[in-house]
Amino acid sequence: MSEEINRFDLPQSEIPRSWYNIQADLPRPLPPVLHPGTKQPVGPADLAPLFPMALIMQEVSQERYIEIPEEVREIYKLWRPTPLLRARRLEKALGTPAHIYYKYEGTSPSGSHKLNTATPQAYYNKQEGVQGLTTETGAGQWGTALSQACNFFGLECKVWMVKISYQQKPHRRTIIQLFGAEVTASPSPLTNAGRTILSKDPNSTGSLGIAISEAVEAAATSGGKYKYALGSVLNHVLMHQTVIGQEALKQLEIAGEYPDVVIGCAGGGSNFAGISLPFVHKNLTEGKKTRIIAVEPAACPSLTRGKYVYDFGDSIGMAPMVKMYTLGHTFIPAPLHAGGLRYHGMASIVCELYDQGLIEAQAIPQLETFGAAAQFLRSEGIVPAPEPAHAIAVAIKEALAAKEAGEKRVILFNLCGHGHFDMSAYEQYLNDQLVDYEYPEKAIAEAMEAVPQV
Ligand SMILES: *Cc1c(COP(=O)(O)O)cnc(C)c1O
Repeated sequence: MSEEINRFDLPQSEIPRSWYNIQADLPRPLPPVLHPGTKQPVGPADLAPLFPMALIMQEVSQERYIEIPEEVREIYKLWRPTPLLRARRLEKALGTPAHIYYKYEGTSPSGSHKLNTATPQAYYNKQEGVQGLTTETGAGQWGTALSQACNFFGLECKVWMVKISYQQKPHRRTIIQLFGAEVTASPSPLTNAGRTILSKDPNSTGSLGIAISEAVEAAATSGGKYKYALGSVLNHVLMHQTVIGQEALKQLEIAGEYPDVVIGCAGGGSNFAGISLPFVHKNLTEGKKTRIIAVEPAACPSLTRGKYVYDFGDSIGMAPMVKMYTLGHTFIPAPLHAGGLRYHGMASIVCELYDQGLIEAQAIPQLETFGAAAQFLRSEGIVPAPEPAHAIAVAIKEALAAKEAGEKRVILFNLCGHGHFDMSAYEQYLNDQLVDYEYPEKAIAEAMEAVPQV
C-alpha cells in the first residue's frame, strides 16, 4: 500500500521568479480609471503623488510576466513557498469522493497573504527615496503586513485603522506598533476627511473607505515625504499575489492533479486573484475548464448584488473612479467579523473577469461561514480567519455536491490567513451570539443614487 501524502512542499529555489500579469491575456482591456474631479482617464502623472513610478508602471503594464526583484525574493524566503495541503480528514468527515486541497498563506510572519504585496510595495518606495508610507487597515492584517515590510526596508509607516477593529482587535494594533508604525483610529480628527465624517456622526465606527480617504489625504498633503500603499484592489497588488497560484500549480502537479474548481474569498479581490489568476491563464490559453469561484459575505455582496458602474475607490470621493461592481461608496457595512471583506467595491480585474463570464461568484451568510470554519478546524487543526471561512464554506458545498453526483472533483481553495486574532468572533460563535446580516435592497438603491454619473 502506498503511503498517503498530505502536504506538498516546494524547495525555496521554486519561489516564482516573476509575477503573472493577466492584463496581457484579458480578452478585453480593463476600463480606464478616471480622475475624481475631471472624470478624464488618469495618467501616471496623476498617480505620482501617491505611488512610486515602478508601481504605477506595473499598474498599467501589458507585459505577461514581471520579474521579482532579488531583494524581494530574499524576503519571500522567510515564508515562501507556502505549503499546499490535502484535507483528507475533512474529506473523510464529509464522506466525499472529492479531493480537497488548500494553499496555506497563514504561514507568513504576518499571518496572511498580505506580506506578498507589502514587501514589494515597501521595496519600490524605498528605491525611489520615499520617507514613509500611509495606509488604512480594516481587520488589521494589512496594517500588520505593511508595518513589517516598512520595518524591513527602514521606512516610516502611518496606519489609519477602522475604529470598530481598533476597538475589537487591540492585539493587532499592538503588533503594528511593535513594528514601529503609528496607529490612528479612523475616522480621526487628524484629516479633513475624518473631521467631515465625525461632524456628521461623532460615533461613526468607520469603514475601510473612510480610512482610505484619510490615508490618501495624509500622503497627498505631505509634500512628497509620504506615499500611500493599498493592500488590495489595484492591479499591481493582485499581480504580486500571483505567487500563490503559481506555486499551487506546481504543487498540484507533484500531487498528480489538476483542479476542477478554484475558490477564494473576495474582499477587494487580491487573495482570490492570487490563487486563481494562474488558473484563469490556463483556461484562457490552454483550453482548461476549471471553474473559478469568488466568495463574498451576504452582508457585503459587491459582485453578486452590486452594479457594474464607475464609483469612487474611497468613501468621500477623493480617490480615482473605477468601473467596478459596487454597493456604492457611501455603503456602511454591518459589523460582521470578516472585517477584510467589508469593502464597497471590488478589484477591476476581478470585475472584468466576472462581467466576461470567466469566473463565478457566490455570497454566503456569516453563520454558515463560522460553521464551515469549525468543521474545518476540527478536521485539519488550523483555526482559519473569518475571511477564508467563506472559501471553506463553498469548498464544503462543492465537496458535498460531488458526493451527491458521485464524482471525484478536485477542489482547491486559498486559506489566506489564520484566525488567531479572531477569538472574540469565535467566542461569539460558541455562545450562539452571531447573527446573519442580509444587505437590504433599499440600502443598495439609496447608495446607488450617490454613485457619480459618468
Ligand atoms: C485582507 C484580507 C482579506 C481580504 O482582502 P482580499 O484582497 O480580498 O484578499 C481576506 N482574508 C484575509 C486573511 C485578509 O488578510
